Amino acid sequence: MADLLSVAEAEALIAGHVRPFGVEPVSFDAADGRILRQAVFAERDQPAFDRVMMDGIGVRWSDPLPAAFALAGAQMAGMARAALTSLDDCLEVTTGAIVPAGCDCIIPVEQTRREGDHYLLAEGYRPAKGQFIHAQGSDVRAGAQVLQAGDRLGAPQVALLAANGVGCVEVAVRPSIGVLSTGDELVGVDTPLGEGQVRRSNEYAVAAALRGHGIGPVALGHVVDDLDATIQALDAMLDAHDAVVVSGGVSMGQRDFVAEALQALKVEWVFHRIAQRPGRPMGFGVAPGGQPVFALPGNPVSSLVCTVRYVRPALLAAMGLQAPAPEWVCLDDEVRTAPALTCFTPVRVRQDETGRSIAHPVISTTSGDFSTLAQADGIVQLPIGEARVPAGTVAPFWRW
Ligand code: AMP
Ligand code: MG
Repeated sequence: MADLLSVAEAEALIAGHVRPFGVEPVSFDAADGRILRQAVFAERDQPAFDRVMMDGIGVRWSDPLPAAFALAGAQMAGMARAALTSLDDCLEVTTGAIVPAGCDCIIPVEQTRREGDHYLLAEGYRPAKGQFIHAQGSDVRAGAQVLQAGDRLGAPQVALLAANGVGCVEVAVRPSIGVLSTGDELVGVDTPLGEGQVRRSNEYAVAAALRGHGIGPVALGHVVDDLDATIQALDAMLDAHDAVVVSGGVSMGQRDFVAEALQALKVEWVFHRIAQRPGRPMGFGVAPGGQPVFALPGNPVSSLVCTVRYVRPALLAAMGLQAPAPEWVCLDDEVRTAPALTCFTPVRVRQDETGRSIAHPVISTTSGDFSTLAQADGIVQLPIGEARVPAGTVAPFWRW
């Protein structure tokens, strides 16, 4: 197996050949799920002013405090800064208001009682100087970086865009992906099944694995096992898309035409076959237009494993996603592997009492058995060279 690439070599070759996709501006409120391609800085201090944290009254702290405070006005959220002028006065305040000038103590309304034009403190209540004041700039200082290129825009990130006045933001272009399945035996989801036929499912799994991570649009196609038809279908896919994934037809069988068709289309064949199970026949190339072409074996387990292990990470990297640290999980059972091949095995993951991720192998006997995949959360990559990987092994994990 010396002629086969290792998983790490295949991964590095793919990374070295997939060009970054472009950048486009979008409105901040349509940016969720996208990958940020610019830095974002704090527009001003956050909070922008010493901020009242409770509804109640604002006073000037002293020792002792007056028995009653004369109500001298109000400082509501959104109002310009008012001022306290006497130790015996108070201002009614609301959460989010500027702390009035001369005020250094906020007393929650529950700890007060109003009598006419005065506020009295609750029996035995002793406020502390400075309490319930959220200091200007204590969250973040004006000009500090709050988001970086490569961040995925989720709910907190979108809030930061809005809060910092970023109405339009640069994000990664969502690449258009073509997924072509090959096979004479394949029919659609609603076609009556003839003898020897199977329903197409790989392309839907690939599309779901990509779309679920913000990659797409994904367009699907199917072609029979015929060289000319495969050339035509791939040519059309390459014309229309930024990257192409092919399922099936990539092994050494007499009806496997993908490699030949890609050659006819002058796709530079970067590698073919990886020392791994499942997915050994996987190939990868680059079209004359620069589009990456991932040629995945047709076995449903292989095609999904190769998608989550190679295709999706490479496309996300080309979209500029800051590579998240790999998730690591601990096997709770032994797994048998094939010596000299890197094996991937589906696992179900749970947290133990200490919060550690524990992976339970979901064993299928061949890469054609994909019904059990639905019981797994993803795959682990097992260490190479051991016939039995023992329970307790810690391994990197890729979610579906
Ligand atoms: P191949 O890689 O073309 O030799 O296909 C290997 C196995 O995967 C065969 O049993 C195919 O029927 C099956 N297969 C190939 N493509 C698909 C697909 N799109 N959906 C489901 N099964 C497939
Ligand atoms: Mg086939």
